[in-house]
Amino acid sequence: MRDTDWPAEDLRARLAAEATLAQKQTELATANTKIAAHAKQLTDEIIVKRQEAESLRGENLEVRSHLEKAESAMRLAERRLWDSLEAIEDGFAVFDGDNRLIAANRAYLAPFEDLEDVRVGAAYPDILQLAVEEGIVDHGEMWGPDWVSMMLARWDDPMRSPLTLRLWNNQFIRLIEQRTDGGDMVTLAVNVTDTIAREKELDEARLKAEAANRAKSAFLANMSHEIRTPMNGVLAMADLMAEGTLDDDQRLCLDTIRTSGEALLVIINDVLDYSRIEAEKLSLHPEPFDLEKSIHEVIVLLQPSAREKQIEMIVDYDMFLPTGFVGDQGRVRQVLTNLVGNAVKFTETGHVLVRVVGLRDEESGEHRVHIAVEDTGIGIAPEMQEHIFGEFNQAEDEMNRSFDGTGLGLAISRRLVALMGGDMWVESTLGEGSTFGLQLSLPASSKSDEPQLGPPAWLGRVLVVDGVAANRSVLQKQLTALGIVPECHADMGQLATMDWRGEDVLFISQAGLADLDASALAGPAAVFVLCQGPAARSLDLPGNAQVLLQPVLRRELLRRLSELEPAQCPLPAEPTAPADAAPRRMRVLAAEDNKTNQLVLRKLLKSVDIDLEMVENGEEALAAYRADPPDLFFTDISMPVMDGKAATREIRAFEDEAGLERCPIVAMTAHAGPDAEGEIFAAGIDHILTKPLKRDLLVEHIEAAAPAEAELSMAAE
Ligand code: ADP
Repeated sequence: MRDTDWPAEDLRARLAAEATLAQKQTELATANTKIAAHAKQLTDEIIVKRQEAESLRGENLEVRSHLEKAESAMRLAERRLWDSLEAIEDGFAVFDGDNRLIAANRAYLAPFEDLEDVRVGAAYPDILQLAVEEGIVDHGEMWGPDWVSMMLARWDDPMRSPLTLRLWNNQFIRLIEQRTDGGDMVTLAVNVTDTIAREKELDEARLKAEAANRAKSAFLANMSHEIRTPMNGVLAMADLMAEGTLDDDQRLCLDTIRTSGEALLVIINDVLDYSRIEAEKLSLHPEPFDLEKSIHEVIVLLQPSAREKQIEMIVDYDMFLPTGFVGDQGRVRQVLTNLVGNAVKFTETGHVLVRVVGLRDEESGEHRVHIAVEDTGIGIAPEMQEHIFGEFNQAEDEMNRSFDGTGLGLAISRRLVALMGGDMWVESTLGEGSTFGLQLSLPASSKSDEPQLGPPAWLGRVLVVDGVAANRSVLQKQLTALGIVPECHADMGQLATMDWRGEDVLFISQAGLADLDASALAGPAAVFVLCQGPAARSLDLPGNAQVLLQPVLRRELLRRLSELEPAQCPLPAEPTAPADAAPRRMRVLAAEDNKTNQLVLRKLLKSVDIDLEMVENGEEALAAYRADPPDLFFTDISMPVMDGKAATREIRAFEDEAGLERCPIVAMTAHAGPDAEGEIFAAGIDHILTKPLKRDLLVEHIEAAAPAEAELSMAAE
């Protein structure tokens, strides 16, 4: 370096230094500015953080206060839950999946009193063990360990049902357990001591009520027997007196005695039946029976009252429906008697028609049988139609009653039909008439005693002449069902000029006959005179004519037609006695202890030409039987020494031993109940007659039992 250069160099250096300084200063200033900015940012951030911290602290405080509130609410809820659990009288406990007790209220623990081992943590099997050892539970006949095993098995059984335990202090606890989804077992131990006591009281009360009911039925049955026996005397004697000569006043009194007596009997029977149904004592006795025949029997029974009022009685029985069914014939007849009886009672003019239709139910094989009883009577107002099926209910009010009756008939009928599994209803228009219907499902009876007859092959034209359209159409249907197509006419006019052939058959109503000259009827093979009632028997008929009682049974019609021969008198010949048997009187034995009833029986049979031997009890009857077997035996049922059933059993045994023919035995009883009937038939008795005895029925049995060699004659009544 040169000295001369130094100031320049120095200057340069200084300038450089100054420049550097200036630059450093600038840099420093920049750095300062940055630092200041950074410091500001930091300060800002600190402020934000501080604010955030402040707010977090606030939130924290809030959360803590919420938590405290939640905790206290939870404690409250838990306390309330426990208070509630403690307040209920029933025990409550929860066991965990390992069967350890995790919670139990005081009621649950109470029976264990202060047994320390029964507390939270205790195992269920140990609790059971203690219950047995300490005698807390009464395990009855069961051995203690067996009881514990039974309880444990039950605990594990998901299908367990509640169980009632008896404790040492005679308290009854019903255990109901349920496993929760979490595997805990919740147990309720309900104190059912009061309920059990009440159930016991109820049971005792029920037993007492049933006993009282039985006593009531027995009382009613006995009472009916007691009342019927003297009624037998009253009515039968009145009947007999009526046959003698009486002046008008006497006849009036006598008629009143008879009608009142009969009305009383109806009431007794109704009340008896109703109380039997009420007490569920009435059982059905199904047997094969002929429905069509039963309906006809009812019609025949009621025909006299219908005839008095000139009401037509018509039966229209579905020609495709069988007539043999299995059912309680007596009860079916009782219902029909009520319905047809009412129809006649409440009808002044017109007709009563019993219509029977039915269909076979393929599934059950039974027939759904509909029976409708239609009348053209006074009808029933709509608001009364349900009412009349009630007990003692009638459509008229008591003040203006003009028909007699108890109002029990329909109530009994509807219940009987219900008992047979069917139902019953009514349709009616006031002033026009009523139709009572009933529906029953009945199996057809396989027993068919109907001979397979057909109408004769020679039969030509068949004519039906009847002024009543309904009668005409029923007969037409019946004949059609037999394969005969009849010509039907309402008026008789053309009969006089009819060109008859020997193969023709004429059905003509009794009314039509009256206008005809007998010669007009000489042509056909046979003339059937259609009559309603026995008065027809006295008709003066030509030789080729015979009476056919209406309504006509289909089977009867077929039988009568099949007996015909072309152009000759078709009446079947009376059976004749074998030539070698000497004629004798019919022997009838009767057993009856009651003197009045003996007298009644003697008087009723006075005019029948028989040998009547009267004995006082079953033992005497048996002796009389052995000495000389009668043709017919009438027996009372309740008699001293030996009753009618026992006597019959002995007689049947004797017949078997001695190889004798079975003698018809007819019971005469005041007990009309079907239960009693079952026993009577079981003893070997063939028929039952209910007291008061009716002469006609007695005579019917005598006629049926009369042997060919016996001469039976009746004095005219
Ligand atoms: P009862 O005939 O003994 O009074 P029911 O129970 O048989 O008792 O009948 C009850 C009532 O129903 C009768 O009193 C009558 O008012 C009414 N009733 C029944 N059948 C008929 C009918 N065919 N026509 C009009 N009313 C009838």
